[in-house]
Amino acid sequence: MELSQQNIMYLPGVGPKKAEVLKKEIEVVSWEDMLYYFPYKYIDRSKIFKIREIDGEMPYIQLKGKIRNYEFLGEGSGRRLTATFYDDTGSIELVWFRMLKQIPDLYKVGTEYILFGKPTVFGHRLNVAHPELETENKFYEGEVGVQGQYNTTERMKNAFLHSRALQKIITQILGNLKTPLPETLNPDIIEKSHVIPLDDAIRNIHFPKSPDMLRKAEYRLKLEELFYLQLNILRVTKYREKRLGGFLFTKVGDYFNNFYHLNLPFALTNAQKKVVREIRQDTNSGRQMNRLLQGDVGSGKTLVALLSVLLALDNGFQGAIMAPTEILATQHYETITGLLAGLGIETALLTGSTKKKERAKILPKLKNGEIHLLIGTHALLEDTVEFQNLGLVVVDEQHRFGVAQRAKLWKKNNVPPHILVMTATPIPRTLAMTVYGDLDVSVIDELPPGRKPVKTIHYYDKKRGNLYASVRKQLQAGRQVYIVYPLIEESEKMDLKNLQEGFESTQAVFPEYKVCMVHGKMKPAEKDAEMQKFVSGETQIMVATTVIEVGVNVPNASVMIIENAERFGLAQLHQLRGRVGRGADQSFCILLTRYELSENTRRRLAILTETNDGFLIAEEDLKLRGPGDIDGTQQSGIAFNLKIANLSHDGQILNLARDLAQEVLDDDPMLEKPQNALLKQQLGKLNTGHQMGWFMIS
Ligand code: ADP
Ligand code: MG
Repeated sequence: MELSQQNIMYLPGVGPKKAEVLKKEIEVVSWEDMLYYFPYKYIDRSKIFKIREIDGEMPYIQLKGKIRNYEFLGEGSGRRLTATFYDDTGSIELVWFRMLKQIPDLYKVGTEYILFGKPTVFGHRLNVAHPELETENKFYEGEVGVQGQYNTTERMKNAFLHSRALQKIITQILGNLKTPLPETLNPDIIEKSHVIPLDDAIRNIHFPKSPDMLRKAEYRLKLEELFYLQLNILRVTKYREKRLGGFLFTKVGDYFNNFYHLNLPFALTNAQKKVVREIRQDTNSGRQMNRLLQGDVGSGKTLVALLSVLLALDNGFQGAIMAPTEILATQHYETITGLLAGLGIETALLTGSTKKKERAKILPKLKNGEIHLLIGTHALLEDTVEFQNLGLVVVDEQHRFGVAQRAKLWKKNNVPPHILVMTATPIPRTLAMTVYGDLDVSVIDELPPGRKPVKTIHYYDKKRGNLYASVRKQLQAGRQVYIVYPLIEESEKMDLKNLQEGFESTQAVFPEYKVCMVHGKMKPAEKDAEMQKFVSGETQIMVATTVIEVGVNVPNASVMIIENAERFGLAQLHQLRGRVGRGADQSFCILLTRYELSENTRRRLAILTETNDGFLIAEEDLKLRGPGDIDGTQQSGIAFNLKIANLSHDGQILNLARDLAQEVLDDDPMLEKPQNALLKQQLGKLNTGHQMGWFMIS
């Protein structure tokens, strides 16, 4: 039977309960899934430390010793079990927060154990939380040397599915195999890339025979992963080139020229000019444009969008601009109608809260072409929204839009409209190439003249007093201030309470100023009303969640205070910072945190205080968090689960993978030749259940 058809549930020691947990937590169902669940790191299990030797900076380590006694401590959610673990050089504390009752039966006082865990400093003592303990006999059954460690979740640990348990399941599967694992790459690809056979790779990734074999196994599996990713993307691109024509915007007409000469309030920056030229080339090529426009916050993307729309209009097409939030859509609508004043362009706004009556007016006009430009939110994607001849769609702040939504846009016409996706979250080149292999990328790498870079300062909570004094000076000078609180879904209720308290304490600290508040749970109308108070200057301080993250433009605001900055990602902090520094005044971004921070968080905050360069920040973000995590890919729902390759380190393998994929497709664009049957089959397998890949073809 095929590996993907064999259920792990029937392996001895697994059973339905554990199988359920594995499925829910790590999407492992079949033998194949399990074999492709790779260790996230390796440790040398042959080394056993003495307690005297260890400190809180060490990674996972092994000790050998005995448990002296158990003690239950604390109440309610603080309840825990501790034990003293000792060897002939000293003792260390063990601590458990779950399964307190079972532990003393499981691990007996006085028995010698090999302990595996990560020591940390708590108070002034070293302890190990939830250690793995094995008796020596059980442990050494032929497993010494370098060992893989598998990621496990809380729920897995509670079901006794810790790293070692996964290892045992994998051992069983490998032991059950009667024949080597079937190859997943063509022989010529294996030859050209000098990789080891799949069977060797899988065995060594789990149980390395030597460090050298481990390296070879990693290389093989990374190459394979990236090869199929590239094959997928390039194949879609080829299809697009072959099948899909594009509207021609050959003319630069009155709308564009009149706007440019009469209404444009300032000169374009060189970067803006360059991008407009690129867009003109695309829309003159007879191919459908699919372009990603990256430009840091405040770089003037809106204007580029508007100029592109005018090109569409000049050639008899309609345009649409889509934004991720109502606030942003409304703001675009207002800015753009202002900029277009007197040019005779019919513009409408359509969002979730557009009244029925208003909708009923807009929709027919859209269909008969009376409306030239529609601005809105997701509402724009609904099937009832029909255009006469939609020529260009601008999607602002791409990271909130999913791939599936992008695909919907394509269906608004027989010939798909040109698409311009704008983002302020800069995606590093390696990532852009991998995720958006089918997109061309433009960059605005220059801010409009006269901007002062925002000064970013990290404050500890304790120094709040000093901070407030400086903020008051800004308020006295007539500036406005944002205060942002994190809002994370899991603990939404508690966070809203934090926000409310923040609102009240802000009022108490600045009684002479007016404070308003917005958060995502408000009704859109209510939110807009509060927002409007801040925009008009009626209130001087805005307390908010990250709903203000994208696009909001209040040039008079000069201070952005971010509470619990440690809870935000780098890209998000950079976005928030972009809300200030939009006027001529020196602006400030204040990152407030508690004193104790992890090394990683400290590094993150330091990067922000050191640079304003969004691309640099994105690169660092990629390094610190790993690409699966990067803002924008997860949120946009791109099925992009790299199991082993790491885009920030494996650029070279990626290039090779891309070349190999390109060669295959040059010879056989639709993978129809018999020698490519394996590739086609593998690709199909990878695409099932994922959003990526064929969405554009289907
Ligand atoms: P973003 O790229 O973040 O969407 P916007 O398009 O909102 O940036 O532009 C930010 C601000 O810069 C706006 O107030 C806009 O009017 C202004 N702006 C845009 N282009 C220029 C320019 N070439 N010169 C001066 N100001 C500009
Ligand atoms: Mg913008």
